[in-house]
Amino acid sequence: MLSAITRRAAYASAVALLFGCHHATTVRDIHDDARAAATSDTARIRADIVYLSSNALEGRGTGTPGNDSAAAYLAREYARLGLRKIELATTCPAMRPGVRECVVGRASYTQPFIARSAAAAHAGLPSELPTQNVVAKVPGTDASLATQYLVIGAHYDHLGRSPSDAMDPEAKNAIRHGADDNASGTAAVLELARRFHAHPARRPVIFVNFSGEELGDLGSEWFVEHAPIPVDSIDAMLNFDMVGRLRDDKLIVYGVATATEMRAIVDSANSVQPLKIDAVGDGFGPSDHASFYGKKVPVLHFFTDMHEDYHRATDVSSKINIPGEVRVIDYAERIARNIANRSSRLTYERSSAPPPKMSASGPGNGTYFGSIPDMGSAGDTPGVKLAGVTAGSPADKAGAQAGDIIVEFGGKTVKDLYDYTDAIGAHKPGDVVQVIVMRAGSRLALTVTLGKRGS
Ligand SMILES: [Zn+2]
Repeated sequence: MLSAITRRAAYASAVALLFGCHHATTVRDIHDDARAAATSDTARIRADIVYLSSNALEGRGTGTPGNDSAAAYLAREYARLGLRKIELATTCPAMRPGVRECVVGRASYTQPFIARSAAAAHAGLPSELPTQNVVAKVPGTDASLATQYLVIGAHYDHLGRSPSDAMDPEAKNAIRHGADDNASGTAAVLELARRFHAHPARRPVIFVNFSGEELGDLGSEWFVEHAPIPVDSIDAMLNFDMVGRLRDDKLIVYGVATATEMRAIVDSANSVQPLKIDAVGDGFGPSDHASFYGKKVPVLHFFTDMHEDYHRATDVSSKINIPGEVRVIDYAERIARNIANRSSRLTYERSSAPPPKMSASGPGNGTYFGSIPDMGSAGDTPGVKLAGVTAGSPADKAGAQAGDIIVEFGGKTVKDLYDYTDAIGAHKPGDVVQVIVMRAGSRLALTVTLGKRGS
C-alpha cells in the first residue's frame, strides 16, 4: 500500500541490487514443492506468504532480482494450474540481458514495463527500473459474456531494502519483508485463481499481479494504459492490498459507491461467518484500484487496516493472521462470483473527485509526528481519525490517542489525509505546533514538538 504519507517519499533502492544475479534457484524448488504439497487452502496461502516475504526475495523492490523471482513464482503457479496466457499488445522495453524474455505479439504471463520514478530521479537514483506485471486468465463458461471481464489484482512489489521509503529508516538497508504489504494480497489473488480455475464463472476472470505500486501505482497504471483487453470491457476490478491482519473481524471495503449495485453485493456476500464490514464509498485510494477507477471501472479494495509494522522491517509472515485472511478471501470470492455471474453489467458511479496530484518534489523533509491513521474512516467524515499512535513518538508524548479525530494541525484545517500530509509537511523537525483533535465530542488542543523521522 502506498500511503498518503509516504506518497512523496523517494525510492532509494540500492544500486547494487539492480545488477545482482538470481540466487534463489534452489530456494525456488523447495518453495514450489512446499506449495504443491500443501493440501488445504490455509497451507497454500501460508506457503505463498512465507516464500514471498522470505529473505531470499529481499523485500521484492521493483527492479531487483527478488522482485523478478517473485514474478517468476507467480507465473509458475499460473502455468501449473493451466491458466491461459494473454496476448499482450506491448512493445519490449529495454531488458537486462538474460533476465527475462519479451516477445511482442506472443502470449505470455508477464507484461514487462519500465517503472519510472520521478522521486528517484530527483534524488539522483536510477529512475528507470525494468520490471513486470504478471497476468493470467480463467475463461468464462458463457460465450455470450466472453468479452466482459472481472479483474482480480494485487501488487506484489514492496520496498526491498530501501530505507528512504520506509517508516523505520533507522533500520538502514534491512529487508522490508512486506508480508502484509503485500504478500498477503498476492496470496489472495493466487488462491482466487485456484478457486476460479476449479470452478469457473460465467464471465472470464483476469488475475493480475502488479509491480511498481510502492513507487506510485506504476504497474496498474501501465496495465490500464496497455491493457490486453479494452478497458471498457472490464466490469469491475477487485484489489487486495494488506489483507493479512484481520483483527476483531473488521474488514474495510473501499469503493462501495463506485457502482449502483455494489453496496447490495457487498452486503449480501457477508452471509457466512459475517465480518464487521467498514464500507467506504470512495474508489480513489492509495493503491492499484485507483488506476482502474480513473478509467471509470467500478472497483473494490479489501484492507484489514493499518498497523505499527506498516512499511517496517517487522512486517513479517509470522504476524499474518492466516485463518483471518482465509475468511477475507471467502468473503471476496462470494462478491467476485456475484459480479462474474450476473446477467447484466455493473453501472459505474462517480463516487468522488480524483485526489489532488501529490507533489513530485522528492523526499519529504523528514518531519515526524507518529500517528497511525485509521484508513477506514478516510473520506466519510471530515478530519483524520487515528487507529493509534506509535509509542514514544511526538504524537504519543503530546497525549494523542486511538480514536482521536485530527481536525486542525498547526493552524491548518484537516479534512482528509491529503490535508493532513500537507500540514505535517509544512513543518520542520523541532517545530512546536498546536494540534486540535475531537475526542468524545469535544475539541481538545494538544501541543506537540515534532520530531525527525528515524531519530
Ligand atoms: Zn506499501
